[in-house]
Amino acid sequence: MNVFKFGGTSVASPERFRVLIPLISEDTQKIVVLSAMAGTTNALEEISRLFAMDESEEALAKTEALRGEYHQVADELFSSLTWGEKAHDLTDEHFNYITALFSREHSRHNEKRILARGELLSSAFLHFLLSEQGIASVLVPALNFMRIDKDGQPDYFYIRENLNRELAAVRDEKIIITQGFICRNAYGETDNLRRGGSDYSATIIGAAIGAEEVQIWTDISGLHNNDPRYVENTRVVRQLSYDEAAELAYFGAKILHPSSINPARLKNIPVRLKNTMEPSDEGTLIVSGSTPEDYKAVAAKDAVISVRIRSAGMLMAYGFMRRIFEAFEAFKTPIDMITTSEVSVSLTIDDPTWLSEIVSTLGSIGTIETEKDQTIICIVGDFRPSREGSAPEIFEALNEIPVKMISYGGSDNSMSILINTSDKVVALRSLSSKLFPEE
Ligand code: ASP
Ligand code: MG
Repeated sequence: MNVFKFGGTSVASPERFRVLIPLISEDTQKIVVLSAMAGTTNALEEISRLFAMDESEEALAKTEALRGEYHQVADELFSSLTWGEKAHDLTDEHFNYITALFSREHSRHNEKRILARGELLSSAFLHFLLSEQGIASVLVPALNFMRIDKDGQPDYFYIRENLNRELAAVRDEKIIITQGFICRNAYGETDNLRRGGSDYSATIIGAAIGAEEVQIWTDISGLHNNDPRYVENTRVVRQLSYDEAAELAYFGAKILHPSSINPARLKNIPVRLKNTMEPSDEGTLIVSGSTPEDYKAVAAKDAVISVRIRSAGMLMAYGFMRRIFEAFEAFKTPIDMITTSEVSVSLTIDDPTWLSEIVSTLGSIGTIETEKDQTIICIVGDFRPSREGSAPEIFEALNEIPVKMISYGGSDNSMSILINTSDKVVALRSLSSKLFPEE
């Protein structure tokens, strides 16, 4: 069995919904994992924020506007009265559910309940559309099997048991539709896998059922070797290892949720990135044994903050690193990159929530400098210790650009470089011409 995941842009409009029909209705059995229509989760997040801030009038106005949009989609998507009416009724059911919450106290839990409406609606609409066309499909609610534990990690045992039970009940169905993103938490409440989490849903499901392949369908034919928004003539990378894909996803390649590699790696399930607009394109295949190449791809991650800790007391002393790391740990802030010298440590974070608290905690260790608007450029390639030369092409490409930090040697398949965001486009273009000269 395969798992097909379609993101928000693949269900962004009635036309886009229709594009999916031939893709999912060929003969093999598959689980179709859907995101909410593009923009919906943002809108629901905004509604929930207004509600939390006690701006109920605004929250209500936004809810009604979104309800109106769904009624319009229903009008355009369905040609029969029966299925059109079902879609209108379901729209009202979900939006009435949201407005009913407004009369209660706001809680984190309500936010999760509100956010879940997007995937519940898109998946039902696809099921209705197929039914209207006479194509058999079945809707298996993600809330019946998808669950995270107390640490927010997928509860594989629970998921496997419950998903397999659900699947056994629909054994003869070819198209099994479910929602991405949403799940239950350890207390059985509606929760989610965080923004962009539908990819993660797809690979968790793939791992749970031992899928032949998980296909992540988007608008672009796989992962490119550089950012096509800034660089011309980028090429699709045809094969990546799980590690390479994870680095690229984490450091900027927006096409895949970074956590989604883990479940696939765990069970060795191939992940393929495919394009709904060009379904015959093979896309990018992510597998365990991809052959390393000198350079495979470059990605950039913005909104990075650098923190530099300088202290003469660090010279030949021990225990400093622990104290530094503890400051970040205390505020649950992950560190991305790190470089050290005898008297200073530079590192980067991407979550500024607790920055001032972290800085004041670190103040007892040394002098602290922070800098915002930084970008990490991640170059994925062959950086195994046996490699000859230290990637001279990279340094040549960045000759004219102030390099703030370099992380080399930590990973066999990537090297990371910190620069000012204002230098990003020049850096990406220059790297592109040095690392991927046109054949
Ligand atoms: N709808 C959710 C989001 O926008 C999940 C996803 O699309 O992957 O974050
Ligand atoms: Mg996505």
